[in-house]
Amino acid sequence: MEVLRGSVRTYAWGSRTHLAELLGEEVPSPHPQAELWLGAHRDEPSQLLAGDTPGDAPGNGGDATRSLADVLRDDPQGALGPSRRQRWSDRLPYLLKVLAAEEPLSLQAHPSAEQAAAGYAREEAAGVPRTAAERNYPDPLPKPELLCALTEFHALAGFRDPAETVALLRALDVRALDHHTELLAAQPDADGLRALFTTWITLPQRAVDDLVPALLDGCVAHAREHGPFTTEARTLLDLGERYPGDAGVLAALLLNRFVLAPGQCLYQPAGSPHAYLAGAGVELMANSDNVLRCGLTPKHVDVPELLRVLDFAPGPPTLLPGEGRGPVTRFTPSEYFSLARCAFAGEEADLPDDGVDLGVEGPRIVVTVEGSVRLRTSRGQCREVPRGTAAWLPACDGPVTVAPVDGPALAFVAADGLGV
Ligand SMILES: [Zn+2]
Repeated sequence: MEVLRGSVRTYAWGSRTHLAELLGEEVPSPHPQAELWLGAHRDEPSQLLAGDTPGDAPGNGGDATRSLADVLRDDPQGALGPSRRQRWSDRLPYLLKVLAAEEPLSLQAHPSAEQAAAGYAREEAAGVPRTAAERNYPDPLPKPELLCALTEFHALAGFRDPAETVALLRALDVRALDHHTELLAAQPDADGLRALFTTWITLPQRAVDDLVPALLDGCVAHAREHGPFTTEARTLLDLGERYPGDAGVLAALLLNRFVLAPGQCLYQPAGSPHAYLAGAGVELMANSDNVLRCGLTPKHVDVPELLRVLDFAPGPPTLLPGEGRGPVTRFTPSEYFSLARCAFAGEEADLPDDGVDLGVEGPRIVVTVEGSVRLRTSRGQCREVPRGTAAWLPACDGPVTVAPVDGPALAFVAADGLGV
């Protein structure tokens, strides 16, 4: 068990307060801070801090560091354990992030395992450089992801029930969209959604430049009257202002607009379109960069490939129920990862002295976002992980318990989805 130091990504949509407060840095931060990465991703592997003695407050130790990627390379047996080395090809299968969005992220979807493997092979064979802007599949792996809200978290995800979308379109009352509304009303299913989405995403720019302002006029009028879709209208106005002339504003009309409460967990299966709008959360994903953008971005949009990957089946967003009793709730939607949310009120009467068994083995990463927790390995090693810090637990540490230190605490534990 060692202290793990992640790195902050400063994308323009990030928050100037959330991560700075979490990390105990100057608030507001000089740049927007979007994501804290904890893992062994090739672009930004986290660092292990040497020099802390067990029980010390982490982060105060020496400055000597080793990259987690190097640790995995030098001792895959200790890091992953014998049974997981082969399954994960000596790599860490997941990437853990704390995400803080002040502004919307791009509208996107991720491929299935088969699509990712085939797409990667195709682009490798074609000699597309892995860092090229038009590269869709820099990795051979799928990229399922989950997000567990830390604050109220606003998002668009999954195709809304078409009947609801028809009601929304009629309520916005945009004459230029009447024809599209009636197409969807005549075929209120996945095929109708595919037809309308395809129409919008392939419109000539001239047509988009006419339609989007007309749509936004409808949104202004609807919001002014406090109509039933005022939240949706405000979101479209916000997106239209940030991305004028972007067909993704039209596509956003088709998606569920919802808010997660803190502790709720959203999953993005392959093919599900989604855009995170605002809020902070803990995100856990397969260690892959395979993203197909659908709009709301200045970046490359590969429409034919996107249409192959998108799942047009309508339905509500996938909220994970979570398993477990007491302070630990576990979300395991994929073999690549599992997230445990450890929420201690600090007054648990029935907590064993050593704390709660985490119930997962293999390579684990712990990050604390409130209070402080104490981790204890089966080998007797013990360490406190206070707010804003993280720990790396290699497979060779065996079973680990977690307990709060002096009062309420909230920590998250990432593991793979293979269990014990
Ligand atoms: Zn995504």
